[in-house]
Amino acid sequence: MNCLEERIKKDGVVKEGNVLKVDSFLNHCMDVSLFNEMGKEYAKRFEGKHFTKILTIEASGIGIATAVAMHFGNIPVVFAKKTSSINLDGEMYTAQVESFTHKNTNQVIVSKKFLGAEDHVLIIDDFLANGCALLGLIQICNQAGAKVEGIGIAIEKGFQQGGQIIRNLGYQLESLAIVDKMDAKTGEIVFRQ
Ligand code: 5GP
Repeated sequence: MNCLEERIKKDGVVKEGNVLKVDSFLNHCMDVSLFNEMGKEYAKRFEGKHFTKILTIEASGIGIATAVAMHFGNIPVVFAKKTSSINLDGEMYTAQVESFTHKNTNQVIVSKKFLGAEDHVLIIDDFLANGCALLGLIQICNQAGAKVEGIGIAIEKGFQQGGQIIRNLGYQLESLAIVDKMDAKTGEIVFRQ
């Protein structure tokens, strides 16, 4: 069991509705030394790949992405912003992302200044559930003409469809913990071997 899986076992809380709560170390109160270990692991898994930028989505991906960037030569971290504004001036790449946790749809935007055809992108996020957030970020890279070279996820919920969708598209998707089963009643969490 790796350090992220151990931490999930210790401090993760399974909620009704297929939600895993990890706010005590991952996405509200952040354990930066854990993020550093995660960065080391991504560096191993993506060895030989060259990235020019990390792309993530606000808010939960940002902390992880900044720690990960340290292991890839301090490349810039760009995060997609969520906005309800429809008054966009053409200087932004945009995508629609349905939120798994909030059950609403956000428009996410990235300024054209910060992503372009010369970029080789590592996408980072905290969770992968149905894949909407990742598909939105991939769409933004496609608009920019940037190449998605790899995708790093902290926790993939393997019983939801996102992982299969993204792998079927041919991307190198590396999830540090894949939860195959979790039970809100007993609190049991089963990881993929
Ligand atoms: P997807 O777009 O793949 O359906 O869901 C991924 C996004 O929803 C992530 O960016 C994450 O913020 C949120 N998310 C999905 N499942 C969970 C969960 O079980 N727990 C938490 N805390 N966030 C989740």
